[in-house]
Amino acid sequence: MTLLIKHGTIVTASDLYRGDVFIDGEKISTIGTSLTMAADRTIDATGKYLFPGGIDVHTHLDMPFGGTTSADDFESGTVAAAHGGTTTIVDFAIQYKGQTLHHAWETWMKKADGKAAIDYGFHMIVTELSDQVEQEMDALVRQGVTSFKLFMAYPGVFMLDDATIFRALLRTGKNGGTICMHAENGGVIDVLVKRALADGKTAPKYHALTRPARAEAEATHRAIALAEMADVPIYIVHLSAAEALEMVTEARNRGLPAYAETCPQYLFLSYDNYEEPGFDGAKYVMSPPLRARETQDQLWRGLAFNDLQAISTDHCPFCMKEQKTLGEGDFSKIPNGAPGIETRMSLVYDGGVRTGRISLNRFVELTSTSPAKIFGLFPRKGTIAPGSDADIVIFDPEKTSRLSARTLHMKVDYNPYEGREVTGTTDTVIARGRVIVDQGTFTGRPGAGSFLKRSTR
Ligand SMILES: [Zn+2]
Repeated sequence: MTLLIKHGTIVTASDLYRGDVFIDGEKISTIGTSLTMAADRTIDATGKYLFPGGIDVHTHLDMPFGGTTSADDFESGTVAAAHGGTTTIVDFAIQYKGQTLHHAWETWMKKADGKAAIDYGFHMIVTELSDQVEQEMDALVRQGVTSFKLFMAYPGVFMLDDATIFRALLRTGKNGGTICMHAENGGVIDVLVKRALADGKTAPKYHALTRPARAEAEATHRAIALAEMADVPIYIVHLSAAEALEMVTEARNRGLPAYAETCPQYLFLSYDNYEEPGFDGAKYVMSPPLRARETQDQLWRGLAFNDLQAISTDHCPFCMKEQKTLGEGDFSKIPNGAPGIETRMSLVYDGGVRTGRISLNRFVELTSTSPAKIFGLFPRKGTIAPGSDADIVIFDPEKTSRLSARTLHMKVDYNPYEGREVTGTTDTVIARGRVIVDQGTFTGRPGAGSFLKRSTR
């Protein structure tokens, strides 16, 4: 199967030019200004951008949490991702206490197998670190699971103490893996949550009020300091607070390999959403929580100046009906998470590129190239170049759409951006040479996605 895309504007992290792309099988074969070779199919991309397929390195599909499971599985979640211009995800496998990492990996491989419509990799969440588990970390790295997520929050469930975190960091110094950190001070948050509930403060907004920005900043600082002492890089996931960003900026100014991602929800939503009437604030219950509106400008600055290197989604949807309602009368029982896998590219294009906060090249860097480099997928993924996987988004910069749970493809009964109009819409998506979204219609196949063996640093 060959495919020729003509007259598009090719955008990578470093280039911007008019050109044609010839795809042979799963790979990009040739790029030129007026290619004439015969192809099985030719697509005219006049007036459209060609972006490397979006890479979302933070998703939670089919994930158990608080007595329920995230609403999208690997089929609905990856189909939604494709509609939004994302062709690769890195999801999280979870080691539960008493289990081996290998068992966790196999469990998540089964969840994705036969369902994923786009390519996928896994980070491994480590919740217990015996000597044997340390050895398993090395084995996983060899199998292409080259990053591990640790938690400084959720005591009794996921949280690790500093000694354990430090041992895991040291291990990645040997095996070339990367530690991703959920940085919030879980001990402090636990005390604040118990105190709020004892005072009868049960509404969704208290989720945010018991997770102060300083708790995120403290943990971010501690995580970076532990990584510095272990002499390894660190990647902070879903950074939300300006105070936490200051810690990353300070470390990077000292030359430390500290990296961080933020998510669209922290760029476009704010604490004000928790004040919506009734139980509606539950739609935005996620950790870390949404912050003060002023934070958004600081995060955009961080993205523009490379103190933040990636925009992922932390897609972890729970329906309002029967899921979020588990926490009616007790905010601490509201499942943490919100949908976002489908809306990332349009939101960031509309709110970032069109407003002049970031350049087109920086948009591609943040949504594709830099996550690919940090997580061992570049140059197979993350760029448009001969030899790279033919993962290409044909993006219409002028087409406007209105975000709504009714028309989006995520299997969740609300959308945090309901009614928001965005200009810039994914038109056609090519994943490893196959057209999987054709002018807005899904033409791919669940199960066509492959597990990606990622490389080390
Ligand atoms: Zn997450």
